[in-house]
Amino acid sequence: MNKLLETIIENNREWTQKGKVATYIPELSKANPNHLGIAVYTIDNEEFCAGDCNVKFTIQSISKVIALMLALLDNGKEIVFSKVDMEPTADTFNSISSLETRNPNKPLNPMINSGAIVTSSLINGKNGSEVIERLLKFTRKITNNPNIDINYNVYKSEKETGHRNRALAYYMKSIGIIEGDVEEVLDVYFKQCSIEATCKDIAKIGAMLANDGVLPWNGERVIPRQVARIVKTIMLTCGMYDASGEFAVKIGVPGKSGVGGGILVAVPSRMGIGVFGPALDSKGNSIAGWKVLEDISKELDLSIL
Ligand code: GLU
Repeated sequence: MNKLLETIIENNREWTQKGKVATYIPELSKANPNHLGIAVYTIDNEEFCAGDCNVKFTIQSISKVIALMLALLDNGKEIVFSKVDMEPTADTFNSISSLETRNPNKPLNPMINSGAIVTSSLINGKNGSEVIERLLKFTRKITNNPNIDINYNVYKSEKETGHRNRALAYYMKSIGIIEGDVEEVLDVYFKQCSIEATCKDIAKIGAMLANDGVLPWNGERVIPRQVARIVKTIMLTCGMYDASGEFAVKIGVPGKSGVGGGILVAVPSRMGIGVFGPALDSKGNSIAGWKVLEDISKELDLSIL
């Protein structure tokens, strides 16, 4: 397996030259566009990796999956989906117009920024610091990595420049979707996006989801089977921005990407995959990471569709 992963990484390295690292969060522009790595963690506890699989990156939108799990655990699906819908979107991840024109009372899904800011606001905690502590603790558990932490440079950079997210959040406060202190909710959101991880960490989150909510390394159930099912379904339909349909056709498994260049994949009943390549395509997905996933999906016949 390691050999196969190495070959796939080498065959796709040239794709890193065809994308661009994100610059709208200034700190992300410092990423090395040549990086490309993959890790696989099976539900039978085998780990494989190749390329730059030990390089840390900020998980960005991948954190929306983690926040959704906690919001569902804390509130149940009825409450969560009364405040955020579960429909795919053809709009960009930070679209304001879809919020105003489609359904003014509910963001389309928890994987776009407006929806994710709502799910973050639904996580229990007496203040923002308690919420982010719970998010970190949960992330450490599902990655089996006690060293998971926030990259404070990226956090500061995003907080200073996140005017569009601020606009989304204040709009949602004005119409009552967000309760409580908007700046506190935004602070949680900016911090969760700035959590740092490697492909290996991400692959383990995928393995837990693939294993229906049970950590493969110790048999502990961390989320109910039904929460795992909801999260995987939303990843499959909404996880890759406005390229989710194409991803489902070409790769055929639940995935969630982030503008830091990571992609989290859960292959039901088989494995989790973490991919990292910070050079992005025009829709914000890792350009080479996507190609790597296409190859591995073909090689291992991963598509569930
Ligand atoms: N922190 C980023 C933002 O809100 C996340 C976007 C992403 O990864 O898609 O703009």
